[in-house]
Amino acid sequence: MTAITACPSCDGNVSLKAFDCPSCGHPLRKPKRGFFGKIFKWLLILFNVLMVIWLFSYLGQIGEMMDGTASEAEKAGAAIGGSIGTGFILTVWVIGDIILGLVTLLTRPSK
Ligand SMILES: [Zn+2]
Repeated sequence: MTAITACPSCDGNVSLKAFDCPSCGHPLRKPKRGFFGKIFKWLLILFNVLMVIWLFSYLGQIGEMMDGTASEAEKAGAAIGGSIGTGFILTVWVIGDIILGLVTLLTRPSK
């Protein structure tokens, strides 16, 4: 016996295994992300959160170095180091996002 159900949109017969109705295309059930798909999705979210924290704590440190007591040379050093460091963090961020984004796309639910 094949498992058949009626499509809620066009009342046609649809297999219970179908993700959407073959005649009208009405979505019947959501394809689920696999185990690894879920992990990578959360890794991507976690990675972005960590990068935001890293960037802000780094900018906070630079800000402290630029404060009052530092000499002009130290301030100039902090400004140069700060822009190099910020560029480095942003580069890591973008590369990490591209890699994790690609993996997340690859582990996306398939029909
Ligand atoms: Zn239908």
